[in-house]
Amino acid sequence: MRQRAVRDQQRLDSGAVSSPKDLESLQREITSLAKRQGDLEDVVLEIMERRESAQERVAELTERVGAVQAKADDATARRDAASRELDAEAATVAKDREVVAGAVPADLLKLYDKLRTQQGGVGAARLYQRRCEGCRLELNITEVNDVKAASPDTVLRCENCHRILVRTADSGL
Ligand SMILES: [Zn+2]
Repeated sequence: MRQRAVRDQQRLDSGAVSSPKDLESLQREITSLAKRQGDLEDVVLEIMERRESAQERVAELTERVGAVQAKADDATARRDAASRELDAEAATVAKDREVVAGAVPADLLKLYDKLRTQQGGVGAARLYQRRCEGCRLELNITEVNDVKAASPDTVLRCENCHRILVRTADSGL
């Protein structure tokens, strides 16, 4: 299109076209070509601007993806570290339990395991200030008297939740 405009302009400048009608037509075509060229340049400019803004957006999103990925990597590393710690702790606790369980009479251990299954993982509870720490209920006076009268070897049970009650210095007896 530009070449055609140049060619038209050359024809006009050369003086080869002499008829006023042809001259006018040539002039009109040059004007029309110039306008179209201007329009197309506007379109090209707009496309370039859009491409630039799209590139900026790509860069921004790439950066955000990188940041999120870094966070995810960090969280994964921390999760794995925590998981290793928990595994080690679980192994230690399992070993400790084995030692303690070995010192508990078999029938008492059987009762404890049964209660533990029935009572959501807690088979024995501390008696603290006359309250069963398993179900949080306070023992009534009769129960307190029964506990007081029981020998230290007697296996006590909570009347409410049936868990094994463990007496301590803070039992409030
Ligand atoms: Zn209880």
